[in-house]
Amino acid sequence: MIRLDGFPRSESRLPVLDVVIPVYNEEGSIPLLLERLDALVAQTAEARIHVILVDDHSTDASPALLKEACARREHCSYLRLARNSGSHVAILAGLEHSRGDCAVFLAADLQDPPELIREMLAAWRRGARVVWAVRQDREGIPWSEKLFSSLFYALVNRFTQVRLPSRGSDFALLDRMVVNALLRSVGANPSLGGEIARLGFSQAEVPYVKQARRFGRSKWTLGRKLQAFADAFVSFSYQPVRLMSYLGLLVSLLGFLSALAIIVMRLAHVTELEGWASLMVVVLVLGGFQMTMLGVLGEYLWRTLEAARHRPLYILEDWHGVDGLEDPSLRRGQVVEAPGPPAGAR
Ligand code: UDP
Ligand code: MG
Repeated sequence: MIRLDGFPRSESRLPVLDVVIPVYNEEGSIPLLLERLDALVAQTAEARIHVILVDDHSTDASPALLKEACARREHCSYLRLARNSGSHVAILAGLEHSRGDCAVFLAADLQDPPELIREMLAAWRRGARVVWAVRQDREGIPWSEKLFSSLFYALVNRFTQVRLPSRGSDFALLDRMVVNALLRSVGANPSLGGEIARLGFSQAEVPYVKQARRFGRSKWTLGRKLQAFADAFVSFSYQPVRLMSYLGLLVSLLGFLSALAIIVMRLAHVTELEGWASLMVVVLVLGGFQMTMLGVLGEYLWRTLEAARHRPLYILEDWHGVDGLEDPSLRRGQVVEAPGPPAGAR
């Protein structure tokens, strides 16, 4: 049994809320983001807000802007990952360094309005341990993208063991208990929304409209979306493997039936069979089929290998205002240590 140390929900103490924000090349959005976060901190009397800005190895002016912002704000911490690891990993890095009673994660590009956090906090105070911000609509994106996204959620919800909120899961508030459970259960190639939904706990939804991006471009390219789709599927479903077995059986059955038909036709002298074309078709179709099956198996296999390697999910390169990291004895596995002296050297 795993015991999760949740914070007692006492009314006597002001709860602490950590706001985790993954940032990858968002220099355009950062000034306005900081302004709106400052306003949120000033207006929120019902919780003490701490902001954790996770720089996912940006190559523009973002790191300098973020570090400077943190140096001037008590309530701000900065983490920089050693390589670009994707927003899900960046969020997990932020959550791992959060200490509050609850934590919320949202994008840096202001598509998810920070002002909604107060509504989510209210839902948490009413007892929900996971509060999803559910998008009712998305401004400024083409219909093809909306279609891809609806298809993604419909397929994941139909064929896997998790149920995602059907209109997005990139903005959510989690109770400390859920954060702890999440950090214990993620492996390599995490699919954040699915991992959270899988945990259970009491869930609530707060509707919002996802705004159009005002600065920069979306970093979710088609390739990354397909990767996320494969991750979500393979993490939470064995259906593709089962489907392979069923299809394999079906093809064997077809082969057996056609063999029977050929024997019968031959014995009855119905027709002379033409060889080359039909053979080529069968060979190519079956060859392609087998390769696809191997590919699906490979998807599961390399993830198993990745998990068995126990590599850290991320490595920190730089940080500011994070408790404990300055003290080497308190550092955790993901922080790069200075290489020690070679064995034997004293
Ligand atoms: N992001 C990140 N690492 C990446 C890609 C994106 O940390 O490799 C951040 C990005 O800066 C933003 C959030 O994740 O704060 C959402 O990304 P984006 O806006 O590009 O995605 P979309 O809104 O198009 O789904
Ligand atoms: Mg965005």
